[in-house]
Amino acid sequence: HSRHILCRLTTSAVRPHCFASTLVLAEQIDGGKIAPVTLNTLTAASQLKQDVDCVIFGAEKTNETAAQLQKYNNFNIKKIFIAENAAYKGLLSEAVTPVLLDLQKKNNYTHILGGSSTFSKGILPRLAALLDVQSISDITKVIDKDQYLRLIYAGNAILKLKSNDQVKVITVRGTAFEAAKEGGGSGQAQVEKLDASPTNDLSEFVSREVQQSERPELPAARIIFAGGRALKSKENFKLLYDLADLFPGQATVGASRAAVDAGYCANDLQIGQTGKIVAPDLYVAIGISGAIQHIAGMKDSKVIVAINKDGDAPIFAMADYGLTGDLFKILPELTEKLKQK
Ligand code: FAD
Repeated sequence: HSRHILCRLTTSAVRPHCFASTLVLAEQIDGGKIAPVTLNTLTAASQLKQDVDCVIFGAEKTNETAAQLQKYNNFNIKKIFIAENAAYKGLLSEAVTPVLLDLQKKNNYTHILGGSSTFSKGILPRLAALLDVQSISDITKVIDKDQYLRLIYAGNAILKLKSNDQVKVITVRGTAFEAAKEGGGSGQAQVEKLDASPTNDLSEFVSREVQQSERPELPAARIIFAGGRALKSKENFKLLYDLADLFPGQATVGASRAAVDAGYCANDLQIGQTGKIVAPDLYVAIGISGAIQHIAGMKDSKVIVAINKDGDAPIFAMADYGLTGDLFKILPELTEKLKQK
């Protein structure tokens, strides 16, 4: 009862959450942009049907990132906190988490959500441990405020889980939720600077190597040409890049774990249970057998094409279209034909 009165008397400057509310950990990428997965996370957050605050961490340009988020007022965003400090370079979880913990202590969110990206997957389990609650990972559906769906056994079974924790700390599978669309709502979300003086003597940002490419990131690509062990070498992966480059800005290259482990390509191209989860319009699996751990990462693709010399390869059971034959014959031919189009 006393808590209720306290809440009523307090002005909106400090907003203790007498009511359930959600915090979305928004991700800043490429010097100020909002990460696409944050937009999917906003959709998941809106399904909880309660007020939403967002928080953005960054070494610079958090104002710009906040301005982008303000365009999504349909999603009931009340406040956007920005925490800017040179110490957030590289967005290390050791630097970010203590500030997030303070924010939680002040505002008592009932739900804290982030996208299932390397960023949130590093931070939110750490936060959950500090709050002494379980970390709920990679949800694909919000049933209600306490219940969610997530995939287990490499996507072969769906788990319905119920959490009784007071605070639910959740990562959201981006491909399972529509991206939020910009629009209206009832007034712009307020932007508030957090006094961010992070202390982090546990880790240090050294450097980040970014491969400059015209090709989209895997989760954002509309078309993916994925290669497997059958490609046999790093040089042969060029066959896939040649194909992808026929669809500038739309297509990119992915790989099976066998191809990554063999060193044919960088490991951030890996698709599957222990790699990226993708759902492009078109997925072309080339010399990939179709192990369940691979399927787990691409089965929601809209159209799946398989090229494999073994007509009994399991990938054909998944595929909408199949080409049985030697990829080293088929790919150059396909590239030539597409060039003529
Ligand atoms: P293979 O299974 O060796 O298949 C190669 C295919 O190429 C075969 O079907 C063959 O018929 C075909 N082929 C050969 N030559 C040609 C040719 N000239 N032309 C056309 N076709 C040809 N795997 C992932 O991909 N992603 C993951 O995230 C992942 N996570 C895993 C997690 C765990 C815990 C475990 C145990 C495994 C995981 N794996 C993962 C590995 C997975 O089980 C498979 O080993 C792997 O996906 C196989 O890769 P592949 O299809 O490229 O190779």
